[in-house]
Amino acid sequence: MDKLKNIAVLSSGGDAPGMNAAIRAVVRDAVNNGIGVKGVLRGFNGLIENDLIDMTKNSVSNIVNVGGTILYTARSKMFMTDEGRKMAYQNCLKNNIDAIVIIGGDGSFRGALELSKLGMNVIGIPATIDLDIACTEYTIGFDTAINTAMEGIDRIRDTSTSHVRCSIVEVMGRNAGYIALYTGISTGAEEILIPERKESAMIASIITRLKIAMKKGKRHYIIVNAEGVGNSYELAKELEKETGIETRATVLGYLQRGGSPSCRDRVLASMMGVSSVNALMSGKRNRIIVVKNGMIKDIDIEEGLNMKKNDIDEFVNTTFGVESK
Ligand code: ATP
Repeated sequence: MDKLKNIAVLSSGGDAPGMNAAIRAVVRDAVNNGIGVKGVLRGFNGLIENDLIDMTKNSVSNIVNVGGTILYTARSKMFMTDEGRKMAYQNCLKNNIDAIVIIGGDGSFRGALELSKLGMNVIGIPATIDLDIACTEYTIGFDTAINTAMEGIDRIRDTSTSHVRCSIVEVMGRNAGYIALYTGISTGAEEILIPERKESAMIASIITRLKIAMKKGKRHYIIVNAEGVGNSYELAKELEKETGIETRATVLGYLQRGGSPSCRDRVLASMMGVSSVNALMSGKRNRIIVVKNGMIKDIDIEEGLNMKKNDIDEFVNTTFGVESK
């Protein structure tokens, strides 16, 4: 095995709080072990355009507590093409890069897998607020995002109670309902609508439950709606028309992505960053750093990407079971 001399690190896809803590850990641990580190700007776009910077221990000072990513991120259309990926690979060779640490979601890992097929060694660190990567129990950014959304819903609940309103709060989650589930449960929402259970968003049954609840004297009715389920403003209009109960929709939107990362995200990101460098130093190739049974491990990238996420069923059965008792 040749000695690892230079690695690169990039962030890709949607930004997530804690990405900076992961970048910092990768850079500091690699440099401490005599490995040179380049930072790639703007995800795969920077790799294609050879937009790389030298990273030192100082270049990651004061970022462990900062949201977003100092390396910026992008969704790269060009990287979806053979031509784009070949250019990216050539730039890796030109910069003497032995391996790349890719911090991002599922899509970024699919891109990483393609790059590995050209010969580059890739290590993925899961970072997405959606918690939608099958091979890991945790993704960097989720904890911060749910706490931010939870605080937002608590505030809406106060005003909703004062006015005796129904409030629909839309949280992020085009295909995954984890943010809605966690925030809905932690705020005591009356309804949680998730893309994996679109049938629970049947308007007729929501109308019935809303009418019964308000008749019983409830002073608020919170519906947490994951964005992939449907338009919250339309739902609010429909509910108000059918029940006569004042109904407002609030879309929390991008504020769920930003902000200083929580303690959990900083710690996990730091551990995953160090684990990625350890994996490379021990000669591993093409892995994803994961949390499995609460422990940090690494698994083959292709195997990880082939896994299907099925824990939402268990989650829904447990939490909705509480409601029905
Ligand atoms: P998030 O889940 O937070 O949105 P993500 O990493 O899943 O993050 P994507 O936009 O899906 O975000 O992927 C990031 C980038 O990875 C894409 O813009 C694209 O450049 C690259 N990518 C995704 N899928 C592939 C693929 N099959 N082949 C090559 N590159 C890909």
